[in-house]
Amino acid sequence: MRFEALAESDKRQIMAISEDKKRSELFAQNVFNDRKMQQFLTEEAYGKVQSAIFSGSKIDRKIANQVAEGMKAWALSLGATHYTHWFQPLTGATAEKHDAFFDLKSDGSALEKFGGNQLVQQEPDASSFPSGGIRNTFEARGYTAWDPTSPAFIYKTTLCIPTVFVAYTGEALDNKAPLLRALHAVDEAATSVAQYFDKNVKKVYATLGWEQEYFLVDKALAQSRPDILMTGRTLVGNHAAKGQQLDDHYFGVIPSRALSFMSDLEKQCMVLGIPVKTRHNEVAPNQFELAPVFEEANLSVDHNLLLMDVMENIANRHGFKVLFHEKPFAGINGSGKHNNWSLATDTGVNLLSPGSTPMKNLQFLTFFVNTIKAVDNYEELLRSSIASASNDHRLGANEAPPSIISIFIGKQLAGVLDELEGVSQGKLSPQEKTELKLNVVGKIPEILLDNTDRNRTSPFAFTGNKFEMRGVGAKMNCAKPMTVLNTIVAKQLTDFKKEVDALIDKKNLKKDEAVFNVLREYIKTSKRIRFDGDGYSFDWQEEARKRKLSNNKNTPEALQILTSKQSLELFQATGVMNEVELKAHQEVELENYVFHLQIEGRILNELVYNHVMPAALRYQNLLLENVAGLKEVYGAAHKNITQPQLNILEQIGEHLTDAKKLTDAMMDAKKRTDNMGSIAKKAKTYCDTVKPYFDKVREHVDALERLISDDLWPLTKYRELLFVK
Ligand code: ADP
Ligand code: MG
Repeated sequence: MRFEALAESDKRQIMAISEDKKRSELFAQNVFNDRKMQQFLTEEAYGKVQSAIFSGSKIDRKIANQVAEGMKAWALSLGATHYTHWFQPLTGATAEKHDAFFDLKSDGSALEKFGGNQLVQQEPDASSFPSGGIRNTFEARGYTAWDPTSPAFIYKTTLCIPTVFVAYTGEALDNKAPLLRALHAVDEAATSVAQYFDKNVKKVYATLGWEQEYFLVDKALAQSRPDILMTGRTLVGNHAAKGQQLDDHYFGVIPSRALSFMSDLEKQCMVLGIPVKTRHNEVAPNQFELAPVFEEANLSVDHNLLLMDVMENIANRHGFKVLFHEKPFAGINGSGKHNNWSLATDTGVNLLSPGSTPMKNLQFLTFFVNTIKAVDNYEELLRSSIASASNDHRLGANEAPPSIISIFIGKQLAGVLDELEGVSQGKLSPQEKTELKLNVVGKIPEILLDNTDRNRTSPFAFTGNKFEMRGVGAKMNCAKPMTVLNTIVAKQLTDFKKEVDALIDKKNLKKDEAVFNVLREYIKTSKRIRFDGDGYSFDWQEEARKRKLSNNKNTPEALQILTSKQSLELFQATGVMNEVELKAHQEVELENYVFHLQIEGRILNELVYNHVMPAALRYQNLLLENVAGLKEVYGAAHKNITQPQLNILEQIGEHLTDAKKLTDAMMDAKKRTDNMGSIAKKAKTYCDTVKPYFDKVREHVDALERLISDDLWPLTKYRELLFVK
């Protein structure tokens, strides 16, 4: 179609797009990144920040003052008026408290002030953040401290400084501090192993690329539903006549209103340095996915948290509400956030990507097998890192990976591991070595090139040059699974190094022989974690039980492992968390679980009493009036024509009775549970005695929705929520 022939509105849209700057020109405009630092910092300050980023060295007050000065100049040049320490309390979201740059001098004149003190450390009045008892509320002593590895950025008119949030006694009160420690642990462990293969490696970064799924719902309609507003999901509601069965949404044409939201969102992401790259429709109606180019894990976690916030803001402007809940609607797919993970060296090598030489491939195999071994050792702990009340709806619900952790590596790589298993113990003959290197290890790159088999049901899958953790919930802070994954891999690589060194020193083996020997043992002992079949099947549950893999179906069960002896030892040995922190984190997770269910219980009660019942009674009255009228007109002959109404009246009566009875029983169970002392017991009892009522109540409410006249039904229906463009 020629431009002249287009409608005015289309023309305007095309012009608006072409007038825009290229995305690459917008990129990181509002980020105090390396380039800005070079521009705004003294050489000395720049050097010190670089070394703090690379090796974690301390930044003294003098330098902090210089950095603050440069940061302030940059921020003011972009019109920022406030600054905030931006942190990740255990609630799962981010927190901030803005202070103005504006200040008064003693002579009453005004200025913009921001020094090293304000940059490096703040004490938010943070007594209401969950701390799992680490910090007694009356003390309220916790502080935020600058994390120079994640660059400061300007969001709206505020300079945001990524920080950790810790108690004065040093314990982490947030999700970032343990993540940073885990990343440090995996760096140390992986670097020394990578040096077997390349002495030039000085640092290893964990990399993360998340894939964020979400729903878009019309804002006004979402607000008309108390359940969506308060819990992020629908607690009642019938499936629409059409769901996702036609597969017409997946990768379909993105609806124009959604596209316009995405376009604005992407521009904002560019400015903030979030490298978003792909967007597409997901399986369910009104469900979408967004994925960035992967980044260093800490930065990637920050970017995901920031993204969720930005999405809410932009959606608001477009008249949408974004739902991040893992299961907003029954009967159609929920939302997850696959975490693609790998390890990369400062020399630019992806350690989970096979290379061009047998040695590079041995390096690949080393990291590959060690990851498998780590997951095998700590599968239950990894499962616990993705446990939450909302993700419980998803894990094991035949649309997302099961709550059993297993690893999919594909037939070809399984073949390679089988061959390695046959390696003879101790020294290898020159022939064996050649055979291994050329025909087994050497073939890996070709194998992977045409490795097209994929298993969507696997919770932890190798996808060519990275592992993909698929059970992470859409709403979650990725810091949690990333902390556990990197910690267990760190521990595993440390053990591996010890074993290999021992073989080299004591058994006089060559390095590659020693590596082959240890890997062979790992391949043998970690077999149970490998599973290529259908993770959704009942047979797998049976098989997994035989393999003694954990299958914790709900959060209270899953969280128990956090404070087991094995976990305590792991976190202590790697320096990621101490006992106090682990207990506190566990307690906060359990509390979150209870709060979640408490709120859902209350809302469900409200829906039944204040929305559903009144509507049902009104419809009953209408029917009664009708029946009485017909009786008056037709006398004894009314029976035939009033039969349908009487039948509906009866059905309404039955469902109302049951809905009320079950709601009352739920509230009774809730009250009993609320009075319990121990949080672990409370969480378990909520799960066992309160939560089961939710679905039972829903069944009757949904039946009432099917019976009651559409014009009297007070709750916006699935059809309206999910198909409005
Ligand atoms: P697919 O869509 O087949 O799962 P992609 O290559 O599109 O695979 O990657 C999906 C996600 O994986 C993206 O967010 C991408 O950035 C991320 N990713 C790719 N390589 C790596 C890596 N080495 N480390 C971490 N994440 C990665
Ligand atoms: Mg993927």
